[in-house]
Amino acid sequence: MKKSFIDLATAEALAAKYPTPFYVYDERGIREGIRALDRAFAWNDGFKEYFAVKACPNPFLMQIIHEEGCGMDCSSYCELILSDSIGLRGDDIMFSSNVTPAEDFEYARRLGAVINLDDATHVDFLKAHGGIPEEICLRYNPGGDFSISGAIMGSPGEAKYGMTEAQLIDSVKRLMELGAKRFGIHAFLASNMIDPDYYPRLAEILFKLAVKVNAETGANVSFVNLSGGIGIPYRPEDTAPDLDYIGRKVQEAHERIVAPSPLKKLAIKAELGRYITGAHGMLITRAIHVKHIYKEYIGVDACAANLMRPAMYGAYHHITVLGKENAPCDHVYDVTGGLCENNDKFAIDRALPEIRIGDLLAIHDAGAHGYAMGYNYNGKLRCAELLLKADGGAELIRRAETPADYLATFDFCDIIKKER
Ligand SMILES: *Cc1c(COP(=O)(O)O)cnc(C)c1O
Repeated sequence: MKKSFIDLATAEALAAKYPTPFYVYDERGIREGIRALDRAFAWNDGFKEYFAVKACPNPFLMQIIHEEGCGMDCSSYCELILSDSIGLRGDDIMFSSNVTPAEDFEYARRLGAVINLDDATHVDFLKAHGGIPEEICLRYNPGGDFSISGAIMGSPGEAKYGMTEAQLIDSVKRLMELGAKRFGIHAFLASNMIDPDYYPRLAEILFKLAVKVNAETGANVSFVNLSGGIGIPYRPEDTAPDLDYIGRKVQEAHERIVAPSPLKKLAIKAELGRYITGAHGMLITRAIHVKHIYKEYIGVDACAANLMRPAMYGAYHHITVLGKENAPCDHVYDVTGGLCENNDKFAIDRALPEIRIGDLLAIHDAGAHGYAMGYNYNGKLRCAELLLKADGGAELIRRAETPADYLATFDFCDIIKKER
């Protein structure tokens, strides 16, 4: 049974102050999730999680995540600005970008971020734009399909990221000539993996590659970066991956592959996004229309511009009708937003309790790639983000957009009449 982390009374109290729709995040859940991750990797000196900022780019949440000891994984100029704004520097920032503009590399180097190079040609590009640091990471793409116990989990051969093994080894040699001294190896081969063997399988691949790179180049490989990819149980029947199992299995691979090698040990870095905030954010929206034609529709005040995953990926997001947690799910609805797009549906043929106009719905597991993927299509405005604090209070951590925000990029001209 999936449970909403806020009840109807709390949601109504928030809605009285901040009109729906809004996102709400659970500080305690975020902190506890990071602590569980740290415990699972406590055996590894130098373990560090870099929160993938793209999952939920809010500086208040980034601050909380940083307080728990995490760095930030950035992929763009503005994500670097967010990390810079909360005071992060040096190895508190991982910069894992691709198709990287020169000014992004230059900014990342000014901040002293750990750079994760996506391609062999980026070695000389970085040399020209920011310079080569002493510590640097390289992104590996093994090609083909990636499988766990025979089941295909991803197709790196079709993915634009990373470099081949030969390119990676050549890049390490070139970087050594240019003054790099310590190396990391990164790969991201599958996404939203609730199979707990994902990280162990990936670790095995990267550990073996690290040993090989060291043998062929003499490079001091100091860490592997397991990147993102640990999933969350979106569906009620899914189970969350067992972090202690993951940590133990990665440790076993480390003992088997790295400990007997000349490297002896490798620090482990991660760039989890979804795992950190996904389950700890919900989109709260109100039913504003009930429509009966060939199907039953519930129209809510949020739309795909606020949460794109169902429309974009057909993603399942559990819905709780607040205050009706124990009512029978004896109605079948499509829950829809107001975009002029028929894929603007948060749920299709979903069994739910009877919904009345005015009911508040909590759309679960929206804390990653939720607000972050918001947009202004159809003239829809991005909503507010609220934080449910560990002490029980609530705080506005991003205000809702207003029409003035929507028009802000025309502020250089007078085609928009100011006296509206
Ligand atoms: C998206 C992304 C992540 C985070 O992935 P999750 O699935 O949210 O954990 C980490 N690293 C890179 C390079 C990414 O693109």
